[in-house]
Order: sequence, then C-alpha cells, then structure tokens
Amino acid sequence: MIEEQVKDRLLSIKGVVPDPYNLPPGCRFHPRCESFVPGVCDREEPVPVQVTPGHFASCLLLGGRNGQ
Ligand code: SF4
Repeated sequence: MIEEQVKDRLLSIKGVVPDPYNLPPGCRFHPRCESFVPGVCDREEPVPVQVTPGHFASCLLLGGRNGQ
C-alpha cells in the first residue's frame, strides 16, 4: 500500500550530473546552482539542516555550515 502520493513533481536543475568518481569540491551542486557563492560553495560541503519538521536540506545559504 502506498502511504503517500506525490502531488507535485520535483524541479530539476540544468546541467549534467557530475561523475560520482570525480565530484566537485564543496557543495556538489555548485557548478549547476543559480545561487552559487564563489569562494564559499566551491570550498565548503554543506551539512543537512532541518528546514521544517522532518524535512532537511543541505545548503550553505540555509545555515548548513559545519561549525568551522
Ligand atoms: S550550498 Fe546551496 S547555494 Fe551553494 S551551491 Fe550548494 S545548493 Fe547552491
């Protein structure tokens, strides 16, 4: 039995998914992200932060810094 139906489709971002054996430094999405911050997103890997109860996001702009 399906517990929950998906009501909306997830948006995809432009570009090509990186090679899993050669991931970019920092946030793995930074080469394709429209909100990319040079010197930040390409250096630091975000950690998951809870944005609403039970929902997490890994983005430096949402506070996903590793306490460094
Ligand atoms: S940390 Fe957030 S803003 Fe930066 S590249 Fe990743 S998803 Fe985009």
